[in-house]
Amino acid sequence: KTITICCGTGCLAYGGAKVAQGFKDEIKARGLENEIEVKTTGCHGFCERGPLVVIRPENVLYQRVKPTDIGEIVDTVKDGNIVDRLLYTIPGTKTKVAHEHDVPFYKKQMRLVFGANGYIDPTSIEDYIGCGGYTALAKTLYSMTPDEVISEVKKSGLRGRGGGGFATGAKWQSTQEAHGDTKYVICNCDEGDPGAFMDRSLMEGNPHAILEGMVIAAFAVGAHEGYIYIRNEYPVAVKHAERAIAQAEAMGLLGRNILGSGFDFTVKINRGGGAFVCGESTALMASLEGRVGEPRAKYIHTSERGLWDQPTVLNNVETLANVPLIINKGSQWYSGIGTANSKGTKIFSLVGKVNNTGLIEVPMGITLREIIYDIGGGIPKNKKFKAIQTGGPSGGCLPESRLDMPVDFDELTRAGSMMGSGAMIVMDEDNCMVDIARYFLSFLEGESCGKCVPCREGLKRMRQILDRIISGRGEDGDIELLEDLSETLTWGALCGLGSGAANPIMSTLRYFRDEYESHIREKR
Ligand code: SF4
Repeated sequence: KTITICCGTGCLAYGGAKVAQGFKDEIKARGLENEIEVKTTGCHGFCERGPLVVIRPENVLYQRVKPTDIGEIVDTVKDGNIVDRLLYTIPGTKTKVAHEHDVPFYKKQMRLVFGANGYIDPTSIEDYIGCGGYTALAKTLYSMTPDEVISEVKKSGLRGRGGGGFATGAKWQSTQEAHGDTKYVICNCDEGDPGAFMDRSLMEGNPHAILEGMVIAAFAVGAHEGYIYIRNEYPVAVKHAERAIAQAEAMGLLGRNILGSGFDFTVKINRGGGAFVCGESTALMASLEGRVGEPRAKYIHTSERGLWDQPTVLNNVETLANVPLIINKGSQWYSGIGTANSKGTKIFSLVGKVNNTGLIEVPMGITLREIIYDIGGGIPKNKKFKAIQTGGPSGGCLPESRLDMPVDFDELTRAGSMMGSGAMIVMDEDNCMVDIARYFLSFLEGESCGKCVPCREGLKRMRQILDRIISGRGEDGDIELLEDLSETLTWGALCGLGSGAANPIMSTLRYFRDEYESHIREKR
């Protein structure tokens, strides 16, 4: 039997490390080391109910576990009567027990990329290999050509999970065909959207899957050097990525002559300084080169001229973690999941005014209603749902009338929002949508690099207008001025931060215009 304890950042914040140590001490004190294994894992997703403990192989889930629950849990595991104790609350505590797959939060999920997080110790390469890890790399190096890898990724329909939704196979092909002395593969782990923690949890919980995806990408495009650009505010993710690189090098899965194939690829880690704009491709590469992290005009794509002006593949963490799955299970299998133009699954961080906050992985095409009510458990205190903000600060707010819309790249854009990297923030009847728009706008105002006028000046003026409206000093013509400035910003900004910055205003004006008007009317 194995007792797995979630030690993702969310559960650690709830005391997961103490619980893990408590289990280790208890098992040792009872001399059960040969019967029961204690394993710390990455994030299981159900952050709301942490610390989470799961007994394998029965997959019995204990939620909100306290050190005082440990003795009774070990008794149950030792006696082997776990299954009889399903849906049982430990007397005198709030610790609930249930079968993992019966928990509504997990029931509608399809945890293809994120699932291994709950089973493996992210600091153990043996655990990853035990779950089939690095078999996709072996298959790639021994039985596929670079063209075949690109063709397979293209046929899978995989699109970038970092925000842009660009076709991954097409991006790889562009780098493969570009001329350059050196080619690079960069993993973008500079996650900065408010409320988003998908990439952090994947890097913390399953770093080898990302490394494996990077080596496969490198083989496909002909790169021999790679970087993981990772936020310095993610210390556990940095530590696990460093350890994973060292382990993969020691086992011949990274470095020179990988698996005896003659293919070389090294990976280094670069810590980001916390600038949101460095998530943008050209700013990220400038920062990696040691320059100020400012975007440049993309008249030439980074896939052709990126890092040090050389062809560069830049993929986000989740995109790369999908690659081993596609190689192992095939593009036909992968493209069978999702909608016409959005294949596979997507990991979302579900936060805000929703009962079950956490990380969820769902097939593309699921509706917002299923996400919020079936998985998220609805709105706390029986309040009324008002809106969901998707796509991070450059995304939009969608109202109740959009709840039955299938979630995919195209539908979200059509509705005035975007997929972005996958942040979802739920709002209830108490939220003022003008205030929400101001929050996101202020965030971007603070993160703007200031290089171009529409973004530097436009965001400031728009925030001032919103301040005015919210404080009851709004004037006739303010809404039209906001619309005007939004259009200038969308078309005139140099990079994605600025061109998407007006989305929270435009979407709230589209769906909640009455709230702006009533703030302005209140003045009179
Ligand atoms: Fe900088 Fe904003 Fe211009 Fe992007 S749009 S380059 S963040 S000022």
